[in-house]
Amino acid sequence: MSTLREELIHATIRRAILLIDYDIHNNVHKKYEFIKQTILADSSLTNDEKNKAIRYHNKSYDMQKISCNEGTKRICEYCNRKCLATEYCEYCVQDYLKSKFSTWTSGNNDIDHLIQKCQIEALHPQMIVDWIPYNNLKNIKYLTKGGFRALISFGNYQTIPTSFGIGAVSVL
Ligand SMILES: [Zn+2]
Repeated sequence: MSTLREELIHATIRRAILLIDYDIHNNVHKKYEFIKQTILADSSLTNDEKNKAIRYHNKSYDMQKISCNEGTKRICEYCNRKCLATEYCEYCVQDYLKSKFSTWTSGNNDIDHLIQKCQIEALHPQMIVDWIPYNNLKNIKYLTKGGFRALISFGNYQTIPTSFGIGAVSVL
C-alpha cells in the first residue's frame, strides 16, 4: 500500500463539507451521502485515500446519527441490539465502560459520577472521558496556572487496551 496523504484526505473532506447545499441536503443522511459521493468523485485521491476518507466520514456520521438518535439501525453481531453506529456498537461500548466502573476511582464520588455519566453518553469510542491516575501520566508539563486550576500537557500514559480502541481525554 502506498503512503496515504492524510492532509489531502482531510482537505477533501473539508471541501466536500463546504459544498453542502443545506436547502437540498437538509438532514444528516443527505449530508452524509453528498459528502460520500463528493469524496468518491474526487480524482485527486487514490482509491486507498478515498477509502480512508470514507472511513473518517463514517465515524463522523456515526456520531451524528447517535447524537440525533436517528438513522437506519443494524443488529450488532455481539449484543444483538439495534444500534445506529456502523463502525462500532454504541451499546457494546457503553456496556464495556459500565463493566469497568468498579475498576477505577478518582477518589471523589462526584468526579467518579461525572466521568461515568460522560462515558455512558459518549458518542464515539475515540472520544471518551477517562480517569487517568496521576502516576500514569508521563512527560507532564505545566503550561500555565491561574485561578484554581492549572493547564498541563502530557505525553504518554498507560491505558487499558480494549477491543474498541478506546482513547482517553484528560480532564483537570
Ligand atoms: Zn453491541
